[in-house]
Formats: sequence, C-alpha cells, structure tokens
Amino acid sequence: MATEHVDVLIVGAGLSGIGAGFHLNEKCPDKRYLILEGRASIGGTWDLFRYPGIRSDSDMFTLGYSFKPWTHEKSIAEGSTILNYIRQTASDNGIDQHIRLHHRVRHASWSSKDARWTVEAERGETKEVVSFTCNFLFLCSGYYKYEEGYTPEFKGIGSFKGRIVHPQKWTGDIDYADKRVVVIGSGATAVTLVPEMAKTARHVTMLQRSPTYVVARPGSDDFAIRLRKRFGARFAYHAIRWRNVLLGMYFFQLCRRKPDRAKQLLLSGVRHALGKDYDVQTHFTPRYNPWQQRLCLVPDGDLFRSIREGRSSVVTNQIDTFTEKGIRLQDGSELEADMIVTATGLSLQVMGGASLAVDGKAIEPAKLMSYKGMMYSDIPNLASAMGYTNASWTLKCDLTCEYVCRLINYMDRHGYRACVPRQTDPSVTEVPWIDFTSGYVQRSVAKFPKQGSKRPWKLYQNYALDIVSLRFGKIDDGIMQYS
Ligand SMILES: Cc1cc2nc3c(=O)[nH]c(=O)nc-3n(C[C@H](O)[C@H](O)[C@H](O)COP(=O)(O)OP(=O)(O)OC[C@H]3O[C@@H](n4cnc5c(N)ncnc54)[C@H](O)[C@@H]3O)c2cc1C
Repeated sequence: MATEHVDVLIVGAGLSGIGAGFHLNEKCPDKRYLILEGRASIGGTWDLFRYPGIRSDSDMFTLGYSFKPWTHEKSIAEGSTILNYIRQTASDNGIDQHIRLHHRVRHASWSSKDARWTVEAERGETKEVVSFTCNFLFLCSGYYKYEEGYTPEFKGIGSFKGRIVHPQKWTGDIDYADKRVVVIGSGATAVTLVPEMAKTARHVTMLQRSPTYVVARPGSDDFAIRLRKRFGARFAYHAIRWRNVLLGMYFFQLCRRKPDRAKQLLLSGVRHALGKDYDVQTHFTPRYNPWQQRLCLVPDGDLFRSIREGRSSVVTNQIDTFTEKGIRLQDGSELEADMIVTATGLSLQVMGGASLAVDGKAIEPAKLMSYKGMMYSDIPNLASAMGYTNASWTLKCDLTCEYVCRLINYMDRHGYRACVPRQTDPSVTEVPWIDFTSGYVQRSVAKFPKQGSKRPWKLYQNYALDIVSLRFGKIDDGIMQYS
C-alpha cells in the first residue's frame, strides 16, 4: 500500500487536535493535514468519561477556544455539552473531513536526509499497520492513558462482594439508586461524583486519605449572561475570558506568594458553606499549600449542599483492607457499601504512548528538555499540545497552535525544511516538568521531559508570559536551528 504524505500530521482528535485543525485551516490554508485518532469517535476526554455528573472544573470562557465563543448558559459545563462544542467546531469548519478514526499511532521516526517523519499507526480491530509521512508532526494526544486509570493495590480487593468501578470505565448499565456507595478519592472526579450520585443513592461516602482544597463557584456566570445580552456573544466572551484569566493568575500568585492568606480565604469559604459545627480541620484542610496541587472547584457548592443535607459524608482515614461488605479502615472501623468507586486518578503517559526515533536513534522522553513548553531539544519538526496545570488547558493549546502555524509559515518563506531547538547553554539546569505534589504527578513525573531553568526552556504556566513568548516572540531566536 502506498504511504500517504501530508504537510502536517496531527495525532489525536480531542479538544486540542480539533483546535489545531482550525488554526491550520485559518493560517496555513495551503497545507495538507490529517488527524489520526485512535478511538472510534472524536472529543477525547469529553467523549471517554461517562461517569455521573462529568463536567469541566474550570470555566468554559477559558476552556473554550479563542476563536469560538462559548454561548451556553452554564460556565462550568457538563461533559456532553463540551463534547457537542468540539463536534460542532469540527463539522462547522470542515475539520472532520481530515480525521481518520481507528488509527492509533505507535511509532514515528524522523529522517534528516528526507526532512520528514514516517509515522506508523495500527488501524482498526485487526491492528493492521499503516504508514504516513509528514513534514511536521503535531502531537495533540493528551497526557494520560485511555486504556485504564490508576488504581492502587488495595489489600483484599477480591473479597468485596459488591461492584467496584473506576470512573474511567463507567458504563450506562451501572445502577446505584438506593445503594450505599463509597467513593475513594478526593480529587476533581470524586468531588463531582459524590453530590451527583447522592441524588439517588441511599448514601455516598467520600473516603479520602487526605483532604484537598475545595472551592465553590457559581455554575452560571450571571454577569457574563448580562454582558452577552447587551454587547453580543463575541464581545462578552473575550471580556469574560480575560477577566477570568486575570483573576486566575492573581489568585495563583497569591497562593504562591502569600500561602497563609490564600489558605484562610479558601477555608473560610468551606466553613461558611458547612457551618461552624463541621470538622473542616479534618476533612477540608490539606497538609500542603493552595496550588501545590490542583484546586477542586464545586459548582454552586453542590458537594457542600449534599453534605449539609446528610446525603453524603466525608471520611478521612487510611484503608486497611477491602472486606466482603465494604472497607475496613486503619482505625478498625468498617464502611459498609453496596458499590465502591475508585476515583483514584489517571495513569499519565507521554507522546500519546508512541515511541519516537531520530535518524534511527530511539528517543527517551525523560532525557528531553521542553522548548517553550511545546517542542523538544534535538527533536526536529515536532510539537505537542500540553495545557496549563494552573489554568484552562485550551489557553496554552491555542497559543501553541498559533506558534506552530507561525513556524511553518516562517520556514516556507525562507525555504527551510527542518527546525530543531538546540540546548547549548551550560548554565541552563534541568527542572521537573511540573512542581505539583499530587500523587498522579509524582508517580509519573520522572518519565516526562524536563523543563529548563531559563527562557525559552522554562515552562511559564502563565498565559500572559506565553502570549509574549508564543504570539509575539521571535521565531528565529538563535536557539531554534533551521536547515
Ligand atoms: C475528567 C476530566 C476533567 C477535566 N476537566 C478539565 C477542565 O475543566 N479544565 C481543564 O483545563 N482541563 C480539564 N481536564 C484536562 C483535559 O484533558 C483537557 O482539558 C483537554 O480536554 C485535553 O484535550 P486534548 O485534546 O489535549 O487531550 P484529550 O482530551 O486527552 O484527547 C486526546 C486524543 O488523542 C487520542 N490519542 C492519544 N494517543 C493517540 C495515539 N497514539 N494515536 C492516535 N490517537 C491518540 C485520544 O484517543 C484522544 O481522543 C480534564 C481532564 C479530565 C480527565
């Protein structure tokens, strides 16, 4: 079979891959591109996760694309609404014509002689290997394994007689009406599941080893709705987007510079929501400072309401063992359950799980240094879309797509076929990709590329600085080598 060649090959048709298609349509209209998607449908995260209540945990004014105003009533949106927004972006802009579903990319190798990537993908259920070549490879493959989430090794897990479900494997037949449910975890998934399941379950217990910062925000933004009515969707979208970006940056800086003050602000919100008799110290006061791990957002304080109404409760303790009837804790007490949900996190992965080689030499992602948080030292013509950890994912991905288009157009204008960031400054030291203390980050950070201690190797996690670097920064900065 002949190998198909395109100018740009995008891996993944989630929020980022569809966004990348839009930017290429707009800014590089002459370029031929394909999007290879391993799954049977587009949407990525927003198609995969089907657990009750699945929703965004950042506002859609910043999680939405810069080019497509979010016009729904709710600013903390349900997964299905986000999925429709992605699908609509793909169909309205003809991006869907470029997508090949059921193509899982397994390997990509760069040849300097030909200045192109050869990409191997497994197609369909037979896993037949098909090849493509491209001038530029754009990985929009997210950051976690789709096959399965993370579940720690729990003692006695086989003895439990009820159903055990990981939220990543939720299916439509799971019935929890009138059941006693234990949700293990304290992250975004757990705080979403608990109030939603508590609507019909007999009782839901959130069992956490240690607490997380939880903050209530309105599910709908009334000011945005008024602004939209008065000035139209586009103006309102950009005004609220900027307001939310700036508020987010201000709060993140407050957390990093005055952690005690930020901590008091967050905890007083919880005390106000749960009343003075609630043990906020045990269940909602983390051992770390705010934004050393991701904050959990609860729209309209739904988690707090369900606790107040007695539909759900929080237990902070360590698991000793699973039993036939539920979970025995280290203090000897037992939580009885008909169903246990292990909201214990994701398994992170790099480069969409594909292996890379440059001129026949296998690449170890952990030995790479990221350039502007989107390309890698010594890897030519390859970028990846990775969002922020402290703000909405799409803010960074939009800027990354803009930069990739600028880079491709720059190379065209100058007749270059290859570009590669080279790190030659001995004063640049390696820093871990993310400085979060969360378990899922700590478990995997060693496998991730590093960032550097200085520009342009430093990962800003700051939208304003990234605008300067990616939208306005020089394409020929002396570090990117062209040939
Ligand atoms: C439950 C949940 C809630 C979240 N909520 C928020 C939020 O509110 N705000 C926020 O900013 N972020 C949130 N995130 C992070 C979220 O993943 C991003 O917001 C965003 O959806 C990522 O989009 P993406 O397209 O980059 O990656 P994904 O959504 O992961 O999509 C990647 C796509 O690439 C495909 N793919 C991967 N590898 C390959 C391969 N080798 N070959 C072919 N195809 C491949 C996958 O099948 C998938 O379709 C959330 C994540 C989860 C899990």
